[in-house]
Amino acid sequence: MEMENGGISSQKWSFKGNELLVKSSEITIRGILNKLMDNLDPKDSRPTIPLGNGDPSAFPCFRTAPEAEKAISDALYSAKFNGYPSTVGILPARKAIAEHLSHDLQYKLSPDDVYLTSGCTQSIEVILTVLARPNANILLPRPGYPYYEARAIFSDVEFRYFDLLPEKNWEVDLDAVISLADENTVGMVIINPGNPCGNVYKYEHLKKVAETAKKLGILVIADEVYYHLAFGSNPFVPMGVFGSIAPVITVGSISKRWIVPGWRLGWLVTNDPNGILKKHGVVDSIVGFLNISSDPATFIQGAITQIFEQTNEDFFLKIINILRETADACYNKIKEIPCFTCPSKPEGAMYAMVRLDLSLLEDIEDDLDFCLKLVKEESVIVIPGLAVGIKNWLRITFAVEPSSLDDGMSRIKAFCQRHAKKP
Ligand SMILES: *Cc1c(COP(=O)(O)O)cnc(C)c1O
Repeated sequence: MEMENGGISSQKWSFKGNELLVKSSEITIRGILNKLMDNLDPKDSRPTIPLGNGDPSAFPCFRTAPEAEKAISDALYSAKFNGYPSTVGILPARKAIAEHLSHDLQYKLSPDDVYLTSGCTQSIEVILTVLARPNANILLPRPGYPYYEARAIFSDVEFRYFDLLPEKNWEVDLDAVISLADENTVGMVIINPGNPCGNVYKYEHLKKVAETAKKLGILVIADEVYYHLAFGSNPFVPMGVFGSIAPVITVGSISKRWIVPGWRLGWLVTNDPNGILKKHGVVDSIVGFLNISSDPATFIQGAITQIFEQTNEDFFLKIINILRETADACYNKIKEIPCFTCPSKPEGAMYAMVRLDLSLLEDIEDDLDFCLKLVKEESVIVIPGLAVGIKNWLRITFAVEPSSLDDGMSRIKAFCQRHAKKP
């Protein structure tokens, strides 16, 4: 055959990589981060300050609760969790998550409402695959979390943007939602507490979202991966509270609240006391997806009951206090920088959105140019707004060690002063 002569030039291969995967992963946050990292100046001896991603697990003050670490090792050494789990997740874990999330609801979730996933990321994958059908479209927030777009592209689901309104604490423009929807709209996504805006929605607003969804006959996908990371005046209200107005699928994980994104334990939960999702085949479809995909590691599933039961309240208080402090410090520093405006002070999650006034800057073309030059000159990483859907804004992560935040924000200020338009 061809190989006998060592020659492959005339060989024809009939396979080819799926181009849709390249297209759908082009503008992910990871992609942009890699591009920024390539721009670091190796001659800068100062530490790089990562205000780009939302994974503070490496910082000592954000280390997870010791009780959670113990739960994992107990589960591992019990030797009870070395086998394959059931595809929807092991029953004790589904039960624990149902109880855990029911604390915030006026009805009780059953273990059958809960599906275990490899982080909230896989939950998003599940839902966008489950809802895919010819001509389907989904409504996404702008700014938002680009993984939704990536999965929608891959599943061939059209997406349409509704704006979040910066001057109204990033509330959903509900009129836009109504005018965007048509008979092929299947759902809308709401991220609360917000990434990238750091906002926390009020009860009344979430209720209006549910009523709008009901009017349009669509379901609400509630991304609550930052659940309970709220440190301002609005308490966290789960969208599931309004599950009897319109069906709600909640996606979440322990990644952000316990600061263990590497543990890959997430969930997808149907908040649907009226059984509408079941009636429309959504539940069967979720089970079907999970039957043909991989599961979170069994011993991590096995640890979840103990993680919920034993994590000390002090751990959550400590994390909330650090986030409140770093959010304040970040916001105050933003106010000292003339070309920055932060329309609403972050009250949840790990991020502040900042509007960039390019007219006050010399030799900066746009948000991406700002970020590329900032990396090169100051070794500070922030995300350009274009990566989350709004150009000429920046997303700054404040969830870092307070001393690093201080250092990073001072370097940003120095950078802006150096590039300020001379009068
Ligand atoms: C981090 C994040 C996710 C992914 O969470 P994992 O549990 O780490 O997979 C999903 N949605 C939003 C809005 C996030 O910020």
